[in-house]
Amino acid sequence: QQRFVIVGAGLAGAKAAEALREQGFDGRITLIGAEPHRPYERPPLSKGYLTGTTDRAGVFVHQEGWYADHDVELRLGVAATGLDRGAHRVELADGSAIDYDKLLLATGARPRKPPIPGADAPHVRYLRRIEDCESLKDVLGSVSRLAMIGAGWIGLEVTAAARQAGVAVTVLEAARLPLLRVLGPEAARIFADLHRDHGVDLRLGAAVSEITPSGVRLGDGGEIAADAVLVGVGAEPEVRLALSAGLHVDDGIVVDAALRTGDPDIVAAGDVANAYHPLLGRHVRVEHWANALKQPAVAAAAMLGRDAAYEELPYFYTDQYDLGMEYVGHVEPGGYDQVVFRGDVAAREFVAFWLSGDRVLAGMNVNVWDVVEPIKTLIRTGTPVTPQALADPSVPLEIL
Ligand code: FAD
Repeated sequence: QQRFVIVGAGLAGAKAAEALREQGFDGRITLIGAEPHRPYERPPLSKGYLTGTTDRAGVFVHQEGWYADHDVELRLGVAATGLDRGAHRVELADGSAIDYDKLLLATGARPRKPPIPGADAPHVRYLRRIEDCESLKDVLGSVSRLAMIGAGWIGLEVTAAARQAGVAVTVLEAARLPLLRVLGPEAARIFADLHRDHGVDLRLGAAVSEITPSGVRLGDGGEIAADAVLVGVGAEPEVRLALSAGLHVDDGIVVDAALRTGDPDIVAAGDVANAYHPLLGRHVRVEHWANALKQPAVAAAAMLGRDAAYEELPYFYTDQYDLGMEYVGHVEPGGYDQVVFRGDVAAREFVAFWLSGDRVLAGMNVNVWDVVEPIKTLIRTGTPVTPQALADPSVPLEIL
């Protein structure tokens, strides 16, 4: 009987086990996870599970009994520490080893630590695991001032949760706008206004030089007093195992469109995979939920020796206060000519389109729903558009 091994019991690992069974694999499946929990979803950790609208049961990918029902062997609370590709063997931290015929690396990502004094201090918080969320939830219920280092998606979501819990928040962001690299100034400004309108002290262009026991010190000598400090300056792919085994690593594990590494028996998916995207014509590493949800079906097909390619456009979403947003497409920083808005930007009910020439590269709908599919079609087909038609809500996106 063949044995397929999945290292990393996050969303991608769980979905790969599911996809293997759905695609008819009847051999052994072993899912190895360093965390002690069965696979869970991370988006609620900065949203509903943090604010209390989602309960713990709501974060898991599958019901507890699903793994036994589908004959998926879980090895939880133990990290894979070695990979011997010649012997087709994964070594675990408890001294045991597991042989594989095919291997999926779905080791995800971990929070980036800024290279400043104090970043490692025990009172400094990061948000990736369910325990981080649970202790942050306690913190938000007990402190009055939070310093948030970094105004990326997670930082801004936690900021919104903290404001809703009545905590005063100072956000320290090095760039001149939050989310500047992903959105560009036209749309990033909207998120700056959103948080200011909710009473956030947004310090842009801030150079944090040290995290101290009483807050944060800035490069200009200024100090921000805080009862708690959370760092959200991005994530880095968890590539240690891949590197140790000599796989090609360059901002993640480099894989082709079928998610295959250079080793014919090893594939990678989810946050850790830097995959060639046929439509975009380059490698992209996508740190988003939808990618970890959908790539595994392609990885499973590759493990089964079938031809498939991952061609989904990058998609993600966020919820902050009463703003809900979806974004689809991919734009390199500064890699667009203009942003066209359709709808009421001041009321935060609109769609934004990023254009290169007369082509749509990406779209973002804010408090407007059911438009992702037509936006995807515009991007995929490369339909030439005019800014006038895009901006005019009376022109259905479907006929552009
Ligand atoms: P991970 O979720 O990182 O899972 C990888 C797992 O592998 C981890 O459990 C890790 O412990 C384990 N592992 C690593 N190395 C080893 C090893 N050597 N041995 C055994 N196990 C190992 N995306 C969105 O699109 N929208 C959102 O709103 C959104 N919100 C988010 C909020 C938060 C707080 C966070 C942290 C992420 C959010 N994301 C969001 C991103 C999304 O959660 C990730 O894209 C997704 O979790 C990636 O899944 P993954 O399975 O690839 O990796």
